[in-house]
Amino acid sequence: METITINNKERAIKSVNIPDNEIKNIEIIVEIKNYEVTYNTNEGFKCNCPDHTYRHTQCKHILKVIPYINKQLKKAYITALQQKE
Ligand SMILES: [Zn+2]
Repeated sequence: METITINNKERAIKSVNIPDNEIKNIEIIVEIKNYEVTYNTNEGFKCNCPDHTYRHTQCKHILKVIPYINKQLKKAYITALQQKE
């Protein structure tokens, strides 16, 4: 399983779904502590912790995975652009 390091701790990347040449349906799920942060191009960020579920705040789990998700998105956009040329 792929992992990322956030604050010196390994986190599991549960899934990265970037369809070929299709940047509209990207979904990335990262496991952080006992929670799951999901990024999806249609719905944005979601976390299943109480902070986000009940208070609808951008919780610390989401904040921690944003740089990683951004990196993945940038990669996906560049790949998609290259395929169009
Ligand atoms: Zn959270």
